[in-house]
Amino acid sequence: MVSFLRPDLAEFAAYRVQPPAADGPPSNSVDVLDTNECPYDLPAELKAKLAWSYQQEIAANRYPDGGHGGLKSAIADYVIESADLGKGTIGPEHISVGNGSDELIRSLLIATCGGREGAILVASPTFSMYGILAQTLGIPVVTVPRDPITFAVDEEGVAAAIATSPVPVRMVFMVHPNSPTANALTPGELDWLHQLPTNILVVVDEAYFEFSQHTTVADVLTRPNWVVTRTFSKAFRLAAHRVGYGIAPPTLTQVLEKVRLPYNLPSFSQAAARLALAHRQELLAIIPELLAQRQHLQAALATLEDFIVWPSAANFLYARPTAISPEILFTRLRHQGTHVRHISGGLRITIGTPEENSRTLDHLRQALAEG
Ligand SMILES: *Cc1c(COP(=O)(O)O)cnc(C)c1O
Repeated sequence: MVSFLRPDLAEFAAYRVQPPAADGPPSNSVDVLDTNECPYDLPAELKAKLAWSYQQEIAANRYPDGGHGGLKSAIADYVIESADLGKGTIGPEHISVGNGSDELIRSLLIATCGGREGAILVASPTFSMYGILAQTLGIPVVTVPRDPITFAVDEEGVAAAIATSPVPVRMVFMVHPNSPTANALTPGELDWLHQLPTNILVVVDEAYFEFSQHTTVADVLTRPNWVVTRTFSKAFRLAAHRVGYGIAPPTLTQVLEKVRLPYNLPSFSQAAARLALAHRQELLAIIPELLAQRQHLQAALATLEDFIVWPSAANFLYARPTAISPEILFTRLRHQGTHVRHISGGLRITIGTPEENSRTLDHLRQALAEG
């Protein structure tokens, strides 16, 4: 390690999505079911509209709108609609837009813990980016386990972890519904989050809101220490464009605006997000079908021997083989061209098209039968 670098960074691995198996099918015939995207691209006429907006409305030589004005207003309207809130309750002053919600997570870390004594708390297994981004900023991560069967948070364990953390906990991250385990926060967990002292910021990551329809956005209006993050990468089919947003009390939004990069979101991505919001009815109309596919796949997987599949409030399933290791099953699936995520002692399987889901089922049957 060269001497000008921070020694702790030597231990980290860069975030990398695994490439397809070298001895598996060619990458263009692999079912990509490891990143929880929507299996459908934008409809062709919306793509054409977006291309038109690039040609007619975007000056490539000009910086993007660094204030995200139009996009923030459109997001605020969507948030009100999505949470059934009163007209005008959420405005652009509650919204901060990021280059993916990953950027917002980093901004939140900088705003709460960076440069001073502060730790974050996560309940494992959960989304890995919180811990990864915290560590790159030198921020300690307090990890508490979830119940191994229900994946509920052990509230007493969390209270003890907060009370005994050598560095004070400033932020708690919860995914609603959680990734990889697909369970939504329970009323009991929400009560516990509501009771946290206001010197701890509660971050509720609603990346899968459009699938679960569970939201805590109303809490942003009544609690100074509550922020919700969401993304255009999943239900809105814009993972290629990297757009995420946070909904927070204006005092917090102002700080998030201070710590982000000035032109963090390219003009083309802003145009894509506005287009997706304007056509949300059409884009989100696919969700009932995806949920029906999820029910169907889950019911089929539940009949497999030596295999456990959990209920899901999102567009993916969490499952675990009981007679072989998840790693072996994962590798067999890869060789068959079904690319899922091996994570936290199990497999996270994205719901794809009906054809992909039926291949997932066939491939799992074959892979488990190999013994
Ligand atoms: C996919 C996902 C996101 C989205 O991240 P982006 O940076 O917006 O693409 C955020 N949180 C969780 C838990 C996710 O699974």
